[in-house]
Amino acid sequence: MLLLELPDISMKIAVIGAGIAGITFARQLAENANVTVFEKSRGYGGRMSVRRSGHWQFDHGAQFFTARSQQFRQLIEELARQDIVAQWHPKITTIQPGKKPFRREWFEPHYVAKPSMNALVKFMAIQLDVRLQTPVIEIAQQGSGWLLKDADGKGLGNYDFVVCAQPAPQCYELLKDHFAEATRLLQPNYSPCFALMLGFSKPLHLNFDAAVVRESPLGWLGLSTSRPGRIDSNAIVAHSNNEWAKESFEQSLELVQKELLNATQEVLGKHVAKLVHVELHRWRYARVEQALELEFLIDREKGLAACGDWCLGNRVEDAFLSGLALGKQLEG
Ligand SMILES: Cc1cc2nc3c(=O)[nH]c(=O)nc-3n(C[C@H](O)[C@H](O)[C@H](O)COP(=O)(O)OP(=O)(O)OC[C@H]3O[C@@H](n4cnc5c(N)ncnc54)[C@H](O)[C@@H]3O)c2cc1C
Repeated sequence: MLLLELPDISMKIAVIGAGIAGITFARQLAENANVTVFEKSRGYGGRMSVRRSGHWQFDHGAQFFTARSQQFRQLIEELARQDIVAQWHPKITTIQPGKKPFRREWFEPHYVAKPSMNALVKFMAIQLDVRLQTPVIEIAQQGSGWLLKDADGKGLGNYDFVVCAQPAPQCYELLKDHFAEATRLLQPNYSPCFALMLGFSKPLHLNFDAAVVRESPLGWLGLSTSRPGRIDSNAIVAHSNNEWAKESFEQSLELVQKELLNATQEVLGKHVAKLVHVELHRWRYARVEQALELEFLIDREKGLAACGDWCLGNRVEDAFLSGLALGKQLEG
């Protein structure tokens, strides 16, 4: 098996997952190696993706991101110049049923991508070879490299090096029989989250743009109104709180939707009369509760590695930093 030296352009690297970690890694190495990204979904961004339905557009995963490291700030500044990212200044409040809402302040800049959250990853991937709607179901050792296989056992190509950039339990499924560090992939644990997507027939005139909700199945309500670059303004994404999602995870989606709708009605009151569209998404691996506290995992001898938010934390920036650190490591 190859012992990784500095990559050269003939070196074939497969990345599994077109979320921000996988795309950041691929972008870092694109000039020094032959990199292909495989993504099971129809679009880019993973947990930063967007759902478009009828007239509405829902950022149903990450709502915003912050930039605390110099590396991520540098990327955000570059993308702000390209008009892909903008600072978000919502009127934000805390709502607790039965109590008076109170205004919250943010003490650091919060950003969104334009016109939808996945635009950030999509823009970063412009020059990359990304195969959408291509789930990788198995990796098998072949000669000195790896053969990737799809759901029918069909080969997706041979690669010298494979990087898994999915949530840790999904990396484990692909790497468990091959990777020296496989059991470490079982360490990070996650909370799920339900995202209720609500489309309204008319603009809502509420006295907040986003709300942290307490003592409710809900944890967050975000209106599209004040998010920069959105075309439509009549959409709301309501996230369940993580604890409630854990308890309700095995319940029928119909019941979950009903309970979240009731909770939303408590917050929105009469405005619910304008509701004309409802959808629910269940995020199994939404929030990393316990991260690994390592930038990435790598098995140089085998030519395998893994990265993602779960290495460092539970935010967009953590996923970016993990992908970047792995890319720099392989660059030498
Ligand atoms: C509801 C919710 C709200 C959030 N809110 C915020 C927030 O406000 N701010 C913040 O900073 N962070 C937030 N986060 C967290 C943030 O979205 C993540 O930390 C970050 O997007 C993770 O990026 P990633 O690249 O590590 O993983 P992912 O985005 O999960 O990317 C992994 C990719 O791998 C693909 N994949 C998986 N298996 C396969 C396979 N077998 N073959 C091919 N492709 C595969 C997936 O489809 C996915 O695209 C939120 C997350 C959720 C779910």
